[in-house]
Amino acid sequence: MKIIDNISELKEEIKHLKGSIGLVPTMGALHLGHKSLIDKAVGENDNVIVSVFVNPIQFAIGEDLDKYPRQLEKDCELCRNSGVAIVFAPSPKEMYSGDKNSLTLICPPYQLVDKLCGKSRPGHFDGVCSVVAKLFNLSKANKAYFGQKDAQQLFIIQKMVKDLNFDIEIISCPIVREEDNLALSSRNKYLTSNERKVALNISKALFSAKEEVKKGANKRNLIDNSLNIMQNLDVEYIEFVDKNTFEFQQEIDKNTLMLIAARTPDTNTRLIDNILLWE
Ligand code: AMP
Repeated sequence: MKIIDNISELKEEIKHLKGSIGLVPTMGALHLGHKSLIDKAVGENDNVIVSVFVNPIQFAIGEDLDKYPRQLEKDCELCRNSGVAIVFAPSPKEMYSGDKNSLTLICPPYQLVDKLCGKSRPGHFDGVCSVVAKLFNLSKANKAYFGQKDAQQLFIIQKMVKDLNFDIEIISCPIVREEDNLALSSRNKYLTSNERKVALNISKALFSAKEEVKKGANKRNLIDNSLNIMQNLDVEYIEFVDKNTFEFQQEIDKNTLMLIAARTPDTNTRLIDNILLWE
């Protein structure tokens, strides 16, 4: 496995790869959620490239860019053991010639970003789309793997690929959870042991909603029930969108994706999770 931190070396290495290429973009601090994407990519491609890059332009001022967990050696170990061909781990300087204001960016449509995570993280999805587009171009990948954990991100990337005719297939991968259903996240590292327990109420609310829907609960019932379960969290949103359009829904139906973002009480860690209510 090659570990590459500069673009010219990456380009040179990719010239010599034979067969199909799968790309798994990550910000590192790899866990079993990332590994599920990597394993799928390794199973479906002759070569897999994993990018490990804490992308500064997708963080707003005051967010956790500086404290975001970085553990490249450990990440490389996981990649090596999983059969990855290349880990691409560039510095911000290698990726960007200047600050965000001086760069050509890809900005998804307003109606897709002015809601859910995009609403509380202005500019976030411009940063995500711009780095992902660069990684698509650099890797020359045939397929790229994204987790349903970041459902809005996945939807926006799929739209970008369609709108801009990227010659790449986006593979959507299911959410990997701990045994008690907490969705795996690199940000779980921030949690105190008390917060780890409290954080569990996010997935509890989602799984409970799924049960309530079977009994005929409506949107109002689901919100009330969720708020009740998440009393110890600072809830940012509980929303319901059509999984095919990402438009808000008034009524629950077979396409309803329920999404939650909430902050934990001590470290103020922002966590997100979602569930298809009628799966
Ligand atoms: P990140 O490193 O957090 O930017 O995530 C990199 C990729 O891994 C994204 O496509 C995420 O959606 C995906 N991912 C993160 N956590 C999980 C999880 N628990 N299950 C499945 N995919 C995940």
